[in-house]
Amino acid sequence: MGKRKKSSRKPGPSRQKVPLDTTFTCLFCHHDKSVTVRLDRKEGVAQLVCRVCDQRYQSKVNHLTEAIDIYSEWIDAADAAQREEQVTRRPVASSSRPSIPAPASVEDSDED
Ligand SMILES: [Zn+2]
Repeated sequence: MGKRKKSSRKPGPSRQKVPLDTTFTCLFCHHDKSVTVRLDRKEGVAQLVCRVCDQRYQSKVNHLTEAIDIYSEWIDAADAAQREEQVTRRPVASSSRPSIPAPASVEDSDED
């Protein structure tokens, strides 16, 4: 009866806690690692700032938010802002017209 013994298990690589990257490349000045994201979970806010061109961005954080999330949010926001600027500059007609209150039918019960 040759019971197969599991050969010695490889000692898995001890999971090291890698410090999360909190510096990124700036969208605006393109400097590497010039953007720093600071997460203040206590306050529930994140501050993103480029120390080269002083671009700033602020967002809300929750317990799951990581610096990279703020960074990608910033990219999205900058992207959207840029697109808005590129949109043909036509005066934005207020698409949602304020509903004009219909004149209340005055019930004239003129009792005389
Ligand atoms: Zn910058």
